Formats: sequence, structure tokens, C-alpha cells
Amino acid sequence: MDFEAFFKSELDSLHQEGRYRVFADLERHRGQFPRATRHTAEGKRDVTVWCSNDYLGMGQHPAVIAAMHEAIDHCGAGAGGTRNISGTNHYHVLLEQELADLHGKEAGLIFNSGYMSNWAALGTLGQKIPGLIIFSDALNHASMIEGIRHGKCERVIWKHNDLNDLEAKLAAADPNAPKLIAFESVYSMDGDIAPIKEICDLADKFGAMTYLDEVHAVGMYGPRGGGIAEREGLMDRVTIIEGTLGKAFGVMGGYITASTALCDFVRSYASGFIFTTALPPTLAAGAIASIQHLKASPFERVRHQDRVKKLRSALDQAGIPHMPNPSHIVPVMVGDAAKCKWISDLLLDSYDIYVQPINYPTVPRKTERLRITPTPLHTDADIDHLVGSLHQLWSRCALARAVA
Ligand SMILES: *Cc1c(COP(=O)(O)O)cnc(C)c1O
Repeated sequence: MDFEAFFKSELDSLHQEGRYRVFADLERHRGQFPRATRHTAEGKRDVTVWCSNDYLGMGQHPAVIAAMHEAIDHCGAGAGGTRNISGTNHYHVLLEQELADLHGKEAGLIFNSGYMSNWAALGTLGQKIPGLIIFSDALNHASMIEGIRHGKCERVIWKHNDLNDLEAKLAAADPNAPKLIAFESVYSMDGDIAPIKEICDLADKFGAMTYLDEVHAVGMYGPRGGGIAEREGLMDRVTIIEGTLGKAFGVMGGYITASTALCDFVRSYASGFIFTTALPPTLAAGAIASIQHLKASPFERVRHQDRVKKLRSALDQAGIPHMPNPSHIVPVMVGDAAKCKWISDLLLDSYDIYVQPINYPTVPRKTERLRITPTPLHTDADIDHLVGSLHQLWSRCALARAVA
């Protein structure tokens, strides 16, 4: 086989479909987020980032930076091994306690990313619980889907956030089979939120466990940043709460929190936990500082929601269509893949605004969008500049305006 020709032809087909991904080469600057320098073949330019998942700007928070400096000076660079073989550092233990406390659970278990936590936890539960059926929301994240596949158990996909469909599918399954319902709180593309209470009610009715991915909610919702389940007083009703340390907490890593036995079970059986080097102590220390800060400080959450509201009302005034939802994610709808990419390129090249276009297959065709994520650090002037630029591009691109 001509391997090189094969790779190139596969890449060509991505180009033809307009699905080839190009990275923006950014250099973030501590103390200046959401400003970053963008490197291109023509040189460097400063841009304002409007699509970061560092939702609260914690990636540059002084308490987080200080904790990371201290940990690297104290412990050195890497963890030095897997968690089992010399890689468990005291910071890991403290972080797991911090996370268990955040979600009101007995225990926590950290992984090297949120992706790994979903993949390893769901995969292990699927493989090891005899006869388990996993009921998976149709819009679950790729990491959950891959984990469930890896579990090789029976899986049933229910219509997104549709309680009737979930109930019908639970009722149709073998009443004696063990069941797990896997879903997210905030869905990251539409910004809609699952009916957690009602899903837990169904779980109780059918004797199912619940697995909730709160990746797009931890740090941002609830009095201590425990997520939507905390805000709604439902943490104790969810069997497993999963989250990331890489989005609102501004660092890197993933985790589950649950009962002591469940975490110990995953710790003891999950290949994706056992056979990989532990997170560097610096990351664990930074995550602890970030979580502790956000447990005590509502300031970032309040300011975040204020910025979201401000952006939405500015978009409304300019007639730029955006999808209404109860979260912090502002999807500006374009509905055409080529125009979406064109607007995104022009925003970057002519207005120094960086928003990545979101096209198929991440979202369905005809719902192509700019997924805008305001942070507490975006100023009124940033919002005016973004909306003014979109206003101009909307006219140039002959896109429909929302009727106010
Ligand atoms: C980003 C994301 C993950 C993965 O988290 P990482 O820490 O980035 O690996 C898991 N679930 C959802 C819903 C996500 O959006």
C-alpha cells in the first residue's frame, strides 16, 4: 500500500467537504487574557479570544499561578510514575479530597483529562458490571460515546433531553438488568441543560445508576461551583459526577466523584487509570487552588453571567440571531458552512477577533454557528467591538437578521 498517498487522499476529502481543521497558533499572555498573540506566516498580531473554554479566566488567576510555582519548586516537574508505582504525590490525594468535598461525595478519582475520565469510567463499568445496559443521551460527548463503546455492553440511545423517550426505553428493557443513565448537565454546543431531577426520578423508578458529565458547569454554577446539580440541590441523587479541571478551573485533568467503593472499583480495574503516568504535581496543585478559590468566591460566576447577559442584549440590538438557552454559551447561528468559515476568517483577519467556526459533524448541517463564550474578563468595549464587527459582516454576507 502507498501509505502516503492514502493519508493525502483522506485529507483531500476533508478539504473538499470543508471539514479540514486549521489551528489558530496562539500565544496566551498571563495577565492579559482574553488577549493573545496570533502567529501566522505573515507575522504576529494581537487578537481577542472569544471561544475559550477557560470560561472564568482561572488559567491566569494569581492564586493558581502561585500554587503551581510553589509546587514545581517544591516537587519538581513530573509525577515520576503511574499512581500505583511511585507516581502518587500528596497533591493528588489532596485534590481528590477537594473534589469529593466539592460534589458532596465520599470519594474522588483523578484522570489525566476529562476525556480519559469518561472513557475509563464508563468503559470499566460497562465491561465489569455483568449485563449492564447503558442508556446514553443522543448528544453525549465523544468521550462518553467512546467509553460506552469500549465497555462493550448493551447500549440504548435516547432522544436528547427527552424524558418520555428515556422512560419508554427504560421500560422496554429487561427489568432485572442493571442499568446506568449517562448524560450531561450543560450541553456545550446548544448550551441547553438536562432535566437532572426528572432523570434521577426515572433512575429511581427503574433502579438505575446515574452518570452526569458536568464538564461545562463545574466552577460556574452552584454556590460553590459544584455545577448544575449543586445549584439544584441534586448532587446526592446522582451516582457519579464527572468533571474536568481543564475548562472553568483553568488547568488540566479530569475526574469522577462517587461512593468510596465505586471510585475504588474504577481505580482498581480501569486500564486508562492504571497504566498511565500521573498528572504532574504542579497541575494538581493549580487545580486545588482554583477549586478552593471558586468554592469561596462568587465574584467570577456573577461577573460571568453579567457578561453573558450583556453580550446577548447587544446581539439582540444588532439583530444578530443567537440561540436562546439558560447557560453561558452563546451560539450565534449562521446556518451555512462556507459562510460560517468566511465570517470566522474575516473576524480574525480584519477585526482581530478569534471565534472558531463550528461546522458539521460537530453540529448538524444548516446549524453551523459561531460558539461564543464570554468570560468575566471581556470588557464592555470588547463586546461592542465583537457585535459591531458581526453587524458589518452580517450585512456583507447578506445573512438574515433576527426580528427583534
Ligand atoms: C471537553 C469535554 C470533555 C473532555 O474534557 P477534557 O478535560 O477536555 O478532556 C468531556 N465531556 C464534555 C461534555 C466535554 O465538552
